[in-house]
Amino acid sequence: MILVTGGAGYIGSHTIVELIAAGHEVVCLDNFSNSNPESVRRIERITGRKLNFVEGDIRDGALLERLLREHAVDAVVHFAALKAVGESVEKPLLYYENNITGTLALLSAMQRVGVSRMVFSSSATVYGTPQALPLTEAHPIGAVNPYGQSKVMVEYILADVCKADPNFSAICLRYFNPIGAHESGLIGEAPTGIPNNLFPFITQVAVGKRAELAVFGNDWDTVDGTGVRDYIHVVDLARGHVKAIDYALKHTGMLAPNLGTGRGTSVLELIHAFERASGRKIAHRIAPRRPGDIGACWADPSMAERVLGWKAQLGIDAMCADGWRWQQMNPNGYEA
Ligand code: NAD
Ligand code: UDP
Repeated sequence: MILVTGGAGYIGSHTIVELIAAGHEVVCLDNFSNSNPESVRRIERITGRKLNFVEGDIRDGALLERLLREHAVDAVVHFAALKAVGESVEKPLLYYENNITGTLALLSAMQRVGVSRMVFSSSATVYGTPQALPLTEAHPIGAVNPYGQSKVMVEYILADVCKADPNFSAICLRYFNPIGAHESGLIGEAPTGIPNNLFPFITQVAVGKRAELAVFGNDWDTVDGTGVRDYIHVVDLARGHVKAIDYALKHTGMLAPNLGTGRGTSVLELIHAFERASGRKIAHRIAPRRPGDIGACWADPSMAERVLGWKAQLGIDAMCADGWRWQQMNPNGYEA
C-alpha cells in the first residue's frame, strides 16, 4: 500500500493514476489547500475504481499514524507542500510551517509505525543559479527563496534520516518543469488566480481568459534571447515516481536524481509549439526580466535512466496537445 500525500494536486493526481495502472494499492491524503475534490472523482473515472481518500493535513501526527497503521502502508510518496515562489518570499513562516513542520510530522509518524520508504518531491530549484549546463546531481545546492530552501532542507533531513537508520530509503526526485496533462483531458493543472508559470498562462491566453502573455526578457544568453527550461510531460514525471517507488521498495539509502528530458526549450519555441498544437495564435509582447529569474536550465537526466531505469518518452508536441485538450475541456479547471 502506497500513501500519496498531496495526491489531489497536479502531479499527485497523475502519479496516482500511474501507480494504480502499475498494480499498486493507493491511499491519498490531501487537505485541499491547493486542490479540489473534483480531481479525486476524475482520478476515479480514469482508473475505473474508488480511490481510498482521506481529507486531512500532514501536520496532524495522530491522523497520520492511524492512517499508516490502518492501511498497512509500505511506502510514502510525499507531494504535499505549498509551491508558490513569490508567496513564499512574503510568507516564509507559512512555507516553513507547511513544508518543513509538515514533513517532520510525517516522518515522525512513519518512524512510530515503522514505515521506512519515502519518495519526495524535490525540485531543480535546489540548484539555484546554474554554474554549468546541463545540471548534474553533482552541482552545488543552494536555493534563493523560502520555497526552494524548504526543498533543500527536506533533502538534508532525509539524508540525515538515512544515515541514522540503515533501513530507510529516501528518493528525492528533482523535477524540472512539469507541463501538460493526462491524455484523457480529465486531470491537469488548475492554478487559482493568475498563473505564475509559463505553460498555464499560455493555455489561458489560448482560450481567451488572458489577453496576452508577457515574455520576461529577450536578452538572455540563449538561442533566441528568451528563457530556456527543461519542460517534462507530467505523465512522464508520474511514471518516474512509479520507478522510484519500485526502487525504494528494494533498496535503502538516499538518492536524489533529476527528472527532466535533457532538452531545453525557449519561451518563444514553446509558444510556437503550442500554436501548432492548438491552431490558436498566442498574443505576446516582450517585457522586462522577472526578478530572481535565471536564463537557462536543463537536466542531465542520465542518473535516473541508469539507476531507476526511467527516461522521458513524450516530447513538446505531446505536452502542448495534451495541455490544450485539458484546458479546452476544463476552461475553469475543476470549478463547475
Ligand atoms: P499542487 O499544489 O497541485 O499539489 C500539492 C497538493 O498538496 C495540493 O493538492 C494541496 O492541497 C496539498 N497540500 C498542501 N499542503 C498540505 C498539507 N499540509 N496537508 C495535506 N495536503 C497538503 O502542486 P504540484 O504541482 O502537484 O506539486 C507537487 C509537489 O511537487 C510539491 O511538493 C511541489 O513543491 C513539487 N514541485 C512542483 C513543481 C511544479 O512545477 N509543479 C516543480 C518542482 C517540484
Ligand atoms: N515566463 C514568461 N512569462 C510568464 C511566465 C514565465 O516569459 O508569464 C518565462 C520565465 O521567465 C522562464 C520560463 O518562462 O524563462 C519558465 O517560467 P516558469 O515560471 O514556468 O518556470 P520556472 O522559472 O520556475 O522554471
